[in-house]
Amino acid sequence: MKDISCKLLVIGAGPGGYVCAIRAGQLGIDTVIVEERKPGGTCLNVGCIPSKALIHAAEEYDRIVHLASGQNPLGIRTTRPELDLSQTIAWKDTIVGRLNSGVSGLLKKSKVKMVQGRARFRDGKTVEVETETGRQIIRAENVVIATGSAPVELPSLPFGGTVISSTEALSLTSVPDKLVVVGGGYIGLELGTAFAKMGAKVTVVEAQARILPQYDAELTRPVSKRLQALGIDVMTRAKARGMAKAGGALLVETESGSEVSLAADRILVTVGRRPVTQGWGMEELVLDRDGPYIWIDEKCQTSMRGIYAIGDVTGEPMLAHRAMAQGELVAEIIAGHKRVWDKRAIPAVCFTDPEIVAVGLTSDEAQKSGSEIRVGHFPFAANGRAMTKLGEEGFVRVVARADNHLVLGIQAVGQGVSELSAAFGLAIEMGARLEDIAGTIHAHPTQGEAFQESALKSLGRELHI
Ligand code: FAD
Ligand code: NAD
Repeated sequence: MKDISCKLLVIGAGPGGYVCAIRAGQLGIDTVIVEERKPGGTCLNVGCIPSKALIHAAEEYDRIVHLASGQNPLGIRTTRPELDLSQTIAWKDTIVGRLNSGVSGLLKKSKVKMVQGRARFRDGKTVEVETETGRQIIRAENVVIATGSAPVELPSLPFGGTVISSTEALSLTSVPDKLVVVGGGYIGLELGTAFAKMGAKVTVVEAQARILPQYDAELTRPVSKRLQALGIDVMTRAKARGMAKAGGALLVETESGSEVSLAADRILVTVGRRPVTQGWGMEELVLDRDGPYIWIDEKCQTSMRGIYAIGDVTGEPMLAHRAMAQGELVAEIIAGHKRVWDKRAIPAVCFTDPEIVAVGLTSDEAQKSGSEIRVGHFPFAANGRAMTKLGEEGFVRVVARADNHLVLGIQAVGQGVSELSAAFGLAIEMGARLEDIAGTIHAHPTQGEAFQESALKSLGRELHI
């Protein structure tokens, strides 16, 4: 096979890698991307997109179950629905397939050469790829490592059989009767909620004192309330100890130190993700580490000249949009543009029920950073649109500096608030002050009005509460 020489080689076609390659191609850089599985990486194939498809299907099903129960005030009467999960999964797979082709098409349009296979460094400028037809050598002036992340496995609960990761959970063709979720973070709660809505009896085993410990307690309270309403049992300060000898049950050490056995058809382990730093010859390079991750500077440059790293392999927050922004940045740097990582905030959205959005600093974080602050808080219970959607739970909270009213952070919890993340992100990125948000006409009736009202409230000028 003839060797390939190029200006840029990207390893991994997840959101970090494929965006980097597309942008580089657009800028006229001779670019090659290597992917061992399918284009789109974790996000598109076994992450963001399939999980949101499943969450949507579960929500629709649960809505009809609720309507059929006759306990709804809307006056709608219907009979109990049925769920064919294998068809739901087939539908999810068609969306994934369309997006796989979409990514391939975009790479092609940008004149990026795609090589299918596993890449491995020989040295800092040379990579060999095991392809279906043989070994391909690629020499590159610049290499971007975008190898992503993989689920963390607990030594006491190795994956296999009834113990599954999110990847298998997203392809189950029948709803387990009893599902135990180990880890009450992003994935555990998003998927645990979806399976509970589809009819599984779900128990969440979380090691920390509360679920979603990365968010503050005020934000997660409506989620806890809803988990309870859905019949999900949450055990906090609890540790999974391993499978019971007889099988079919998980042994859990509870907060009090006693051991309980939880019957389970499936055990979904979602205790975090680890960077993929093995299997591609990292030992051939001299890369500094940042804990388990690859260390990078504000240009996503590693400790070796000409080698960049982006996305989950470089650490938290492990989010697709961070990976994409880093990918775009690196492509432009390689094209000679003057760019550094100068983002003010990376929005985080948890697609639980209700959803959580957090952009920038919380009040505690802002205070710790030395700012005197003002906080405006507006509940959806006072928002007309939320009432008409039976979504009165939750609030929008804005945190700003007390002296010049610069907005430092915006958080919300409520039905459908993921879509408010765009407005929140824009406000912080553009350096908005409370007066900018308060002075912007927000369409009525929308949940976005709660954003404006939270700013008005922090200025002592609230109108609707
Ligand atoms: P990845 O997407 O992991 O892609 C890395 C790619 O590199 C893979 O395709 C892999 O096959 C390839 N690769 C690795 N090694 C090699 C090699 N040696 N040779 C060739 N190819 C290689 N994030 C959000 O922002 N929003 C969400 O709603 C969200 N939901 C999620 C739900 C789940 C269930 C999971 C698991 C994750 C979710 N995430 C979400 C996280 C998101 O998927 C990741 O942050 C994102 O995919 C990281 O992108 P990446 O490009 O760094 O790596
Ligand atoms: P996570 O870090 O969100 O949650 C892991 C949870 O497991 C934590 O609450 C932790 O305290 C708990 N835990 C750790 N060890 C445990 C143990 N032995 N027993 C019981 N609990 C234990 O991790 P995740 O849910 O696996 O998700 C991984 C990453 O994927 C996230 O950090 C996030 O970056 C990304 N993700 C994002 C989204 C989104 O943006 N909506 C959705 C899913 C995943």
